[in-house]
Amino acid sequence: MAQILAPSPQWQMRVSKNLMDVGPLTPKMWSSLVLKQSKKGAIKTSSKFKVYALQSENGTVNRVEQLLNLDVTPYTDKIIAEYIWIGGSGTDVRSKSKTISKPVEHPSELPKWNYDGSSTGQAPGEDSEVILYPQAIFKDPFRGGNNILVICDTYTPAGEPIPTNKRYRAAQIFSNPKVIAEVPWFGIEQEYTLLQTNVKWPLGWPAGGYPGPQGPYYCGAGADKIFGRDISDALYKACLYAGINISGTNGEVMPGQWEFQVGPSVGIEAGDHIWCARYLLERITEQAGVVLTLDPKPIEGDWNGAGCHTNYSTKSMREDGGYEKIKKAILSLSLRHKDHISAYGEGNERRLTGKHETADINTFSWGVANRGCSIRVGRDTEKNGKGYLEDRRPASNMDPYVVTSLLAETTILWEPTLEAEALAAQKIALKV
Ligand code: ADP
Ligand code: MN
Ligand code: MN
Ligand code: MN
Repeated sequence: MAQILAPSPQWQMRVSKNLMDVGPLTPKMWSSLVLKQSKKGAIKTSSKFKVYALQSENGTVNRVEQLLNLDVTPYTDKIIAEYIWIGGSGTDVRSKSKTISKPVEHPSELPKWNYDGSSTGQAPGEDSEVILYPQAIFKDPFRGGNNILVICDTYTPAGEPIPTNKRYRAAQIFSNPKVIAEVPWFGIEQEYTLLQTNVKWPLGWPAGGYPGPQGPYYCGAGADKIFGRDISDALYKACLYAGINISGTNGEVMPGQWEFQVGPSVGIEAGDHIWCARYLLERITEQAGVVLTLDPKPIEGDWNGAGCHTNYSTKSMREDGGYEKIKKAILSLSLRHKDHISAYGEGNERRLTGKHETADINTFSWGVANRGCSIRVGRDTEKNGKGYLEDRRPASNMDPYVVTSLLAETTILWEPTLEAEALAAQKIALKV
């Protein structure tokens, strides 16, 4: 913990004083800001951090650090459970802490809880109680010990799922016997962008300006190419500690943009794990004084957007003859393209332009090894005659409960009419 990087509080205070109520920054304002800072000898860019515990002058922070790291297990059986839920925007994660009398292993051992939904845009003030149902637990990498993170979903006091509770419907789909029998696997590639605090401009980018064009950054190394590796790495370890099924990370095409992958995970678990990983990422960026955005196109122009490619397979796609099942699934997906697009994230039309490794939002397409298609099938899958498909359409801010359950619904539960099937077969065959 002592090594967690944090921005100089001095720097943060100066900036916030200077930026109070001034609206968006113009390049001119930026340069005057930077000038003022260097005159005072403050740290010039937000990619510079200092370590609190090592540099604190009066030792106060060290003593707080000691308390944060205190192992309380010899003194009490009690643990701290951080209850986590999705707020009113459908993308914000919220949490609060609760003392539990003893360590637990399963969410069913935990009590329901509640919060003020009028403060999260989820309930009117006069009847503001929203009830939290614990659904999945993870080890808490921040508090350590037996302390836990609890992924919850949200209900009215009468027991109805509230509108932003997308997990409820997903859990219904994933508990359908036909879906269970197909053991749906998901591998989700969560892309995200790191921004400098206060200015909402990507980490490592020159103040008010742009870095050199894309090319050297993807999976790169070096101080002129990679910004925020500590955050990506801290997230990696935090996920492994927590029990999240993280499968890898990489630096992205746009500098300051990163990706981590979760999976393959079965059914509803994929959504629980992505949401918990997003929560960890919010907490880690909070400590580092960096702002996380899941906007699908954070910077306009010749810069890659951020997606959440969803790799998907069913049992029959993974078995011999699976390639035929994959093609059938692609056909169904082509027929429900609009339904999927409307559930794949806000602002995705700014990202799915047909450029920057995306397909046009209005046109369904698929191809082997083609990154400009809606659906990509890997070379290995084609060669082996079985495997999985990659849905490249979901945006970085998509709700994984929605996307995973819709994929299962369309490809396992939904059946096109014969005419529609024949028509679509012609149409998508032409596009390949
Ligand atoms: P890309 O080449 O598109 O960058 P990644 O390696 O980033 O792909 O992510 C691929 C994801 O797909 C990983 O999370 C991986 O675990 C997952 N995956 C692998 N096999 C399957 C499968 N059969 N079904 C679903 N997901 C899978
Ligand atoms: Mn990837
Ligand atoms: Mn990527
Ligand atoms: Mn991908």
